[in-house]
Amino acid sequence: MVETKKLQIKTKGNCDVINITEEVSEAISQSAIRNGAVTVFNVGSTAGITTTEYEPGLVNYDLEALFERIAPQSIRYEHEETWHDDNGHSHARATLLGPSLNVPVIDGQMTLGTWQQIILIDFDTRGRTRTVICQVIGE
Ligand code: ZN
Repeated sequence: MVETKKLQIKTKGNCDVINITEEVSEAISQSAIRNGAVTVFNVGSTAGITTTEYEPGLVNYDLEALFERIAPQSIRYEHEETWHDDNGHSHARATLLGPSLNVPVIDGQMTLGTWQQIILIDFDTRGRTRTVICQVIGE
């Protein structure tokens, strides 16, 4: 069985880290599937999905500092020559992080650790409304 739900998530952009665990959990509860897996996929090329411990240090400082070290905003990106925009670093960061996450579901629950939340990181240079697909596959 396959059940799909679309989430609409408002972001502020610029490395905004948003906890979407509750929304994904709800999508699983609303489905008839008890055992299988959920794929959580961001539609678009300037945001990504992963897990972290959702606490202020990581969320407000450490993750942004990490991506700033790996793909700094201030350096030159050829992408910006292609489209004359300002978000080369946003695309580079999103490519590195990846757009999706797969989590096993057992007895209707995701197998997340106590301190492990599902996060959407929006790397774009402005606020967006993100579409996140939750597809639950199983029985
Ligand atoms: Zn761009």
